[in-house]
Amino acid sequence: MAKAEDQAARLARLAREVRERAEAHDLAADGAGASDAHHHPAEAATDADARERELQAHLRLREEEERLLRLAEAAGRGEYGVCVDCGDAIPDARLQIVPDAERCVACQEAASRGHRR
Ligand SMILES: [Zn+2]
Repeated sequence: MAKAEDQAARLARLAREVRERAEAHDLAADGAGASDAHHHPAEAATDADARERELQAHLRLREEEERLLRLAEAAGRGEYGVCVDCGDAIPDARLQIVPDAERCVACQEAASRGHRR
């Protein structure tokens, strides 16, 4: 089991990386707007679509950052890596692959099945 401080540091780093990706999205969107001096209606529509997709991607990254920051706090309290359903420790191997896992594999599968019922 990794130390709580290590887990908190890793999650904080992941959150920072996600925020940097979100900020890179912002810059890309601004650059596209500034270079768009000549406006054809068709291009404007494409721009609007691209901007909408950028915005959605940006919002997803922001949500991911917030989730990772919450998990970093939980790790600081020694509450990270515990299944929210059964309270068992989530294996480190799973947390390496899915840092924001909230459930152990068994409970995650049970939860997915539950949604379909
Ligand atoms: Zn569980």
